Amino acid sequence: MTMNNTQLVWFRQDLRLEDNPALYAASQKGHVIAVYLEATKQHQLHHESQAKMGLRLDAVKALRQALNKLSIPLIYQEVSVFDESPQALLNLANQFSCKSLYFNNEYPLNEVIRDNKVEKLFNENNLHTIRFDGDLVLKPSKVRNLKDKPYKVFSAYKKAWLQEFKAIPQGVYPKPKKQLWDLAECEQNDIVNPYNYRDDLWQSGEKNINAKLKQFLPNLFGYAEDRNIPSIQGTSCLSPYLAIGTISARQCIQGIFDAYQTDIEKIYQDTWLSELIWREFYRQILIDNYKRLSKHQPYKQKSESWLNNDIAIERFEAWKNAQTGFPIVDAAMLQLKQTGWMHNRLRMISAMFLNKLCLVDWRWGEKYFMQHLIDGDFASNNGGWQWCSSTGVDSVPYFRIMNPITQSKRFDPTGEFIKKILPQLESLDSKQIHFPDNHVRKTLGYPEPIIDYKSARETALSLLA
Ligand SMILES: Cc1cc2nc3c(=O)[nH]c(=O)nc-3n(C[C@H](O)[C@H](O)[C@H](O)COP(=O)(O)OP(=O)(O)OC[C@H]3O[C@@H](n4cnc5c(N)ncnc54)[C@H](O)[C@@H]3O)c2cc1C
Repeated sequence: MTMNNTQLVWFRQDLRLEDNPALYAASQKGHVIAVYLEATKQHQLHHESQAKMGLRLDAVKALRQALNKLSIPLIYQEVSVFDESPQALLNLANQFSCKSLYFNNEYPLNEVIRDNKVEKLFNENNLHTIRFDGDLVLKPSKVRNLKDKPYKVFSAYKKAWLQEFKAIPQGVYPKPKKQLWDLAECEQNDIVNPYNYRDDLWQSGEKNINAKLKQFLPNLFGYAEDRNIPSIQGTSCLSPYLAIGTISARQCIQGIFDAYQTDIEKIYQDTWLSELIWREFYRQILIDNYKRLSKHQPYKQKSESWLNNDIAIERFEAWKNAQTGFPIVDAAMLQLKQTGWMHNRLRMISAMFLNKLCLVDWRWGEKYFMQHLIDGDFASNNGGWQWCSSTGVDSVPYFRIMNPITQSKRFDPTGEFIKKILPQLESLDSKQIHFPDNHVRKTLGYPEPIIDYKSARETALSLLA
């Protein structure tokens, strides 16, 4: 198929038609051919979970269907590692006589290196690459302090972010118009999805995900409180789709505007909006420190007091296998295993438990989360773990250590969540459920606690100070 003025659009973690600046800009220039490269080995090197890889491939299939309705073909190719991407893309550009390649930026180190190599190879061949920041609401360089330096404190970043956001109207890019092409002219090979995941819980397809956002919007009014209660669905569960870009943060914010309509003040005070700004904050931190963070170095260099011995391995195994003897932590770890997702409050409790109370290196937990989360996202996962372990930018002070028992009493008072996930504890009353007595554990076959909370906390405080 050779057409004049054909643009190649490279889809990555932006698997959507709407609010996709690269796709939109390309479609304004001429005909579009879309490409998706599945880097099978690279995704494993990045410890991405089966669940995320499975969801993403199903999202690519759904994207192809949606693109095909607009007579845009989507070429699917497998490469092993990122290094093979530049040549694969050049071959396609030559095959379809495309002069330009459009894509939305990604910010971790290997992605940056790959994209720079693509740009170099295209330039050497007198072809262009045209890049956008479709994963962010505001352009990376827009939110800076008076000295033109990145913010290190979230509250100040958020204030500046909101100021910038209010100043520039943020529309959502429309999806491209239907092309006048015969799809049969372009061979679109089958997409085989070898990955298992809970596709009964997680849907793909942009339309379904937009509907999911709409369904969630009435919950915004109770979100500030409900978001902390794991037994109810108080949060959007949109993170898997934001991670692979089936929906954008800008579309979510558009939803907030729809929900509050003319009540502008409420929009800017909205707690869910704040969470979306946290997402932007961690992305900005990654952009400014991508070499260091992508190598899993702490944002703040501190003396490291983690155990590096058999005890650490034993504790890590117990944590992974939901055998810590702390019901809220074990239920959290099982939720992750069973669904590929974990509630935010539980991510904080289980991360601090592993790192501060068990003194296991936060990077072990970061990697394990990535290997199991369906929403595994480098910037947010690294940011979350460094926040919990007090090594990150604007992280909790070292002495803030969530007590898994009091957290459990506060956020799961009757044990409703715990019992749903750990049915062996179903018979326990609200006194026993958060930390059963030893004889109760024995009767129910529930493990003894792997640490003594009080002494673990004291040890942590003396080591981490
Ligand atoms: C240790 C740890 C690891 C984490 N790892 C990830 C991860 O790999 N991927 C991921 O998307 N989030 C991660 N988070 C952040 C947060 O837990 C999830 O984004 C959230 O639980 C997703 O559920 P939701 O979509 O229902 O969120 P909602 O409450 O509905 O929030 C909407 C969106 O805002 C963003 N968001 C919310 N909270 C945060 C936050 N604290 N930091 C950054 N973005 C946020 C997410 O994109 C989320 O989908 C992690 C947090 C911690 C403490």
